[in-house]
Amino acid sequence: MGLVHNLFRVALDTPLRRLFDYLPPAPREGAPALQAGMRVRVPFGRRRLIGMVMGTADSSDLPPERLKPILEVLDPAPLLDAAALELIRWAADYYHHPIGQVLATALPKALRLGAGTAATEEHWRVTDAGATAAALGEPKRAAKQRALLDLLLAAGNAAAAHALDAAAADWRDAARALEKRGFLARSAVAAPAAAAEPVRVRTAGPELLPEQREAVEQVAAAAGGFAAFLLEGVTGSGKTEVYLRLTEQLLGAGRGVLVLVPEIGLTPQLVGRFRERFEAPLAVLHSGLTDAERLAAWRLAWSGAARIVLGTRSAVFAPLPRLGAIVVDEEHDASFKQHEGALRYSARDLAVVRAQRAGVPVLMGSATPSLETLHNVAAGRYTRLRLSRRPGTSRPPLLKLVDLRTSAIEAGISTPAALAMERHLAADGQVLVFLNRRGYAPTLLCTACGWIAPCGECDARLTVHLTAGRLRCHHCGADAPLPARCPQCGFAVKPVGQGTERIETTLAARFPGVPIVRLDRDVVRKRGDLDEVMRRMSSGEARILVGTQMVTKGHDFPNVTLVVVLNADQGLFSSDFRAPERLAQTIVQVAGRAGRGARPGEVLIQTEFPDHPLLVSLLAQGYDGFAAAALDERRDAAWPPFSRLAALRASGKTREAALDFLAAARAAAGTAPRGVRLLGPVPAAMAKRAGRYHAQLLLESRERPPLHQFLDAWLPGVEALRSAQRVRWALDVDPLELF
Ligand code: ADP
Ligand code: ZN
Ligand code: ZN
Repeated sequence: MGLVHNLFRVALDTPLRRLFDYLPPAPREGAPALQAGMRVRVPFGRRRLIGMVMGTADSSDLPPERLKPILEVLDPAPLLDAAALELIRWAADYYHHPIGQVLATALPKALRLGAGTAATEEHWRVTDAGATAAALGEPKRAAKQRALLDLLLAAGNAAAAHALDAAAADWRDAARALEKRGFLARSAVAAPAAAAEPVRVRTAGPELLPEQREAVEQVAAAAGGFAAFLLEGVTGSGKTEVYLRLTEQLLGAGRGVLVLVPEIGLTPQLVGRFRERFEAPLAVLHSGLTDAERLAAWRLAWSGAARIVLGTRSAVFAPLPRLGAIVVDEEHDASFKQHEGALRYSARDLAVVRAQRAGVPVLMGSATPSLETLHNVAAGRYTRLRLSRRPGTSRPPLLKLVDLRTSAIEAGISTPAALAMERHLAADGQVLVFLNRRGYAPTLLCTACGWIAPCGECDARLTVHLTAGRLRCHHCGADAPLPARCPQCGFAVKPVGQGTERIETTLAARFPGVPIVRLDRDVVRKRGDLDEVMRRMSSGEARILVGTQMVTKGHDFPNVTLVVVLNADQGLFSSDFRAPERLAQTIVQVAGRAGRGARPGEVLIQTEFPDHPLLVSLLAQGYDGFAAAALDERRDAAWPPFSRLAALRASGKTREAALDFLAAARAAAGTAPRGVRLLGPVPAAMAKRAGRYHAQLLLESRERPPLHQFLDAWLPGVEALRSAQRVRWALDVDPLELF
């Protein structure tokens, strides 16, 4: 076999863990030289696929007569630059995932299907019907739609999407509704070339506190090379202001900034603050966009027209020419880890790798840093920057435990908590009541025969939703009418336990005339509903807010002076070694909602275990003290960050299918190499979910290299197992949740 020159290695979206070799395309006059990062169309079996050139090669495993030429080159210039390709390669390697599928995660769907890169601007125009409707005061019942119509009419009937972004944080739902009614039309207009002029600051920020200034200066001084920083400060300590000033400096130097946030729907304030501060197109990427919208935002970033890119998890792959820094807000948040589907990556970790490859600083902010990040600080890999005080007069809240064993409790609310609520309401404060369980009650019970409403598809109980008159499964979405009588014996049934819906009812009876709002996923089906809850809280119209985890994210309620955590105990005794960390983070985050204004806050935590070492260290020494104690425990038990984990997960139609596959996978490992331990397989704690049985095989190693060498050698054999055909399986490197 002679040496073949100039082959192209192409990544294709297939489950095969390899690149595919192709001959150069037929030469065409004026065609640009084919380079890595360009998309090509190639023959693949009987199909034609779009793939990406990853590099060249001199020889192939394939005999020359089987090599086929590339059919078509789709891009005149690379879609992904060398650094972006490097990140893709790294992710494929580290997560042991087929590179073509990593690319499929990284690129918007439209690009995978062959869409071009020419950046267009999305324009919205009022139609004749829309103008007529507006003149008649239509649509009468939709304030946001009316406001958007007025805005566009005032702007001369039309505006670009980024101009609307700057004028109103949340206009898309209204625009889509108006489009459906035929009142608005959108079109794509060629975008102007990347703006050469410096980005204007719309409104200057406040004068920075010394710690903020120090943080901005340190990160800015590191620009031009890789450095990782942890910005640690309680909610309200001014972290966002640090991000804004750093961005301002980098934009001034002609660079761009990538900002990653946990969930865009829950952090509208952050997006809003970037929009208010900078007079520049911003590309916002999140899961709520349609394919076309995502493509438009991606192109805006790719072309350099948007110098600020803000987004959730997958935005870590967003293109940004002249990247100057990456910001990861709320770096501890679990939503940065993709824990479903094929490629289970951590956007936080990839952000650090990307910063390293790009030679720029990465700034990770949190009030409650993950233990991994704190460990990196201790090891000297990350630099810690602290914001120890809140701007203005606000002081950190005071945390107290309420011992549920010795306090009277009624419908989930203890007497000390009820009295504190009375006191704070009388003093004109607002109160936040936190319970991480939505619905009316977690259980429906028959007191005569002991029947408990089960989910037929999961190892779980159905939750009572009283207002809706339904029983719902919070794991698979199963939904049934609420029965009045026990299906087994005909006796009356009764809801047992507390959910946010029930707490709201209880509080309404206890505090008549005091306006209450609730914030959980049942209330917030649409963006507009979330805005309405926020409006009623910030205006002071509502005095009590009852909510789930949702209340811990990003929203600012300066007049909340009391926070009541109804049940801290779920996180104390879990089989998941990360549960205490999550509990401590939740308590600190929810406590951070109190006393952000001029008045100091108070936090009451109801528990049956007031002597639990975790709660004791958290209360006595704050989050840092807790983290130090928790890291010691992790070291003793050799859990991450003192070891490396990977989980092989499987689900099947039967318990046996899942367990048999994992047992075969374990057997295929033979004797694992030194330093690597295989644990299991074991069924998941909730083995049956949505009708499928889940199990896992855990792999553990003190050091990273032996584990990854082992995975490289082992996975091809796992893939080839016959039992693999009968299950869905995935490898989860650095799993966040163990079951
Ligand atoms: P975090 O992101 O840590 O929650 P923010 O940056 O949102 O904190 O700051 C909290 C509040 O304090 C915001 O209203 C912000 O405008 C204000 N703030 C931040 N820094 C300063 C400062 N140096 N002087 C005055 N107000 C500030
Ligand atoms: Zn019964
Ligand atoms: Zn279910």
